[in-house]
Amino acid sequence: MENINYEATMYITDVIFERWARAYNPRKRYNLMSSNIAKAMNNAIKACRELLITGVIDYIRGVLQRWFYDRRTSAGKLKSTLTTKADVNIGVNDEKAHYITVYSITYYSFLVKDGDLDGTVDLTSKTCTSREFDMDEIPCEHALACIRIRRFSYADYCSPYYSSAFLVAAYIGEIHPVGHPLNVVVVEEDLKRTVFRHLVRELVNQDVQLVIVMVTIVIHAHTRDRLDH
Ligand SMILES: [Zn+2]
Repeated sequence: MENINYEATMYITDVIFERWARAYNPRKRYNLMSSNIAKAMNNAIKACRELLITGVIDYIRGVLQRWFYDRRTSAGKLKSTLTTKADVNIGVNDEKAHYITVYSITYYSFLVKDGDLDGTVDLTSKTCTSREFDMDEIPCEHALACIRIRRFSYADYCSPYYSSAFLVAAYIGEIHPVGHPLNVVVVEEDLKRTVFRHLVRELVNQDVQLVIVMVTIVIHAHTRDRLDH
């Protein structure tokens, strides 16, 4: 890196690795650098932006109802211990594991060589010098090579978050209709505000955390839009 851009290399070295390299981050960090859920949601609901806010809320409710039903249905059909994506990930790493040389240190720890890396894998602490096993909490190719030698189950070395059971649990919540706004008894001059509160209250009462997040985002977005115009 120094040969490409010396100043940039010095800059990111001074910042310290823990601040920008996921492998060195002391906390568990998801493998996406952006956590901006608002942008993702704006894209998903852009078709309803021109509606009144009560329409926006009900549109989001409908989107979530569909998402939860679709994902709950497909998760319920899984027959494997791990989710499909996790199984594919394991399959890719398992292919690479064939080319790794493994030397036993103890029954659960190993020296591994893949041509680039001379590292160690510890199956007890679920760690590898490559840091992939530690960060992703799913066996990297080095760990899989060791697991294969001991004839252990790779599923035992994956985080429960990769299991089909967790996927089903994630979508166990049900999104129900909240009733037609015209059926809400309200005082005429306070109509819009009361209908909006009714919608929000009904959604939040469904005890689905995601709904609460969505509603918060929409309220903020609408408030910002009104201030901008
Ligand atoms: Zn590794």
